[in-house]
Amino acid sequence: MNKAVIYARVSSREQEREGYSIPAQLKLLQDYAEKKNLKIIKEFTDNETAKKEGRTNFTEMVKFLKKNKDVKTIIVEKTEQGEYPSKPTLGYKRESSKIIKIDTETSPFVLRAFNLYAEGHYSLQKVIDGLYKEGFVYKAEKPKIGKSHLESILKNIFYIGNFMFKGRIFKGTHEALIDRELFDRVQEAFKKDNKPLYRKEHEFAFAGLLTCGECGSSITAEIKKGKYIYYHCTHGKGECSQDKYIREEELDKQFKEAIKKIHVTEEHKQWIITALKSSNEDEQAYHLERVESLHSQSQRLRERINKIYIDKLDNLITEEFWLEKHNQWTLELDKLQTLVTAHDKANKSYIENGIQILNIASEAYELYISQSGNEKIKLLKIILSNFLLTGENISYEYKKPFDILAEGLACTTTLGRKDSNL
Ligand SMILES: [Zn+2]
Repeated sequence: MNKAVIYARVSSREQEREGYSIPAQLKLLQDYAEKKNLKIIKEFTDNETAKKEGRTNFTEMVKFLKKNKDVKTIIVEKTEQGEYPSKPTLGYKRESSKIIKIDTETSPFVLRAFNLYAEGHYSLQKVIDGLYKEGFVYKAEKPKIGKSHLESILKNIFYIGNFMFKGRIFKGTHEALIDRELFDRVQEAFKKDNKPLYRKEHEFAFAGLLTCGECGSSITAEIKKGKYIYYHCTHGKGECSQDKYIREEELDKQFKEAIKKIHVTEEHKQWIITALKSSNEDEQAYHLERVESLHSQSQRLRERINKIYIDKLDNLITEEFWLEKHNQWTLELDKLQTLVTAHDKANKSYIENGIQILNIASEAYELYISQSGNEKIKLLKIILSNFLLTGENISYEYKKPFDILAEGLACTTTLGRKDSNL
């Protein structure tokens, strides 16, 4: 039986209220371990509301894992995960305080709306009218749904089994009403549906991000026929043969593929965290070696300080000489202590950063497709660099360590698209 440890954490009072308490999490994680045939050898919990510095037992767990190298799994429950914290959206109903189910009365309305809009040639208003004509009634007292409400429904990731809470996307425990492919088609359709309001916030999303792959000039954007956004080289640095105009949708599509490549599933994520820890052994060995050497240097200094004090007591040296040496060595001792602390910290943040990065990787794609222009750019800049446009193709580099994810996962995920230069 494989050995595992459990780590549970509550990060705010609110989450505790919502039923994410430590005992509740532990129960969940223990069940999971049992299902996966894992033997739990230790449990670690942190309550960040109780202790201001928080995360103390996280550090303890890391120490424990260093000592027990046969523990290959850490079971962690994202504390915010699983339950939708507010009122369910149209098409769902709350069966109990924790369970949200598909509502057989209202869900056909939502499903039909998605299918109509996914066709790509209906405006929101046409979908509203179409639903009404086909006999899909929003509410008895208000048979036609409002436009902005419909738009928010069609963009709501709750329907594909996720939910947004405090700006982050979480995997819900509820059943998806809409499959991923249909949801994606609807998001594509929003780009075609050129509503001026939508356009405005979205305007020239990728301008300023891209550089011409041939001449290094910046890439600019302009609107054609009042609705289509095209990107092209400014030819600002003189001679350049790039004269293609590329649609924004096309660039968006290519960026989406780029983000998709670093996607990790929850299962992959746990696996990588474990791998991260074992691949970190060299790093840890280095830190340990340094810390040990710093400790022995400290020890030597302490001995010297003690010895010279005795020399002073024995009148073997002057008071001045003693004081001078005492101060000098105490200062050195202080410096060594600072170095020890820095090493401990570096080692800890290595693992925490790793987990942070995996969280980004597992959520990036969903964030990307659900966000507006500016937010997309922010996300792209976290993951990629060196954005070039040549012909109709963008090129980029994955920032470290996303490059490893992109490479490592390319062989396990088939995206139906291969780069021609490979
Ligand atoms: Zn150019």
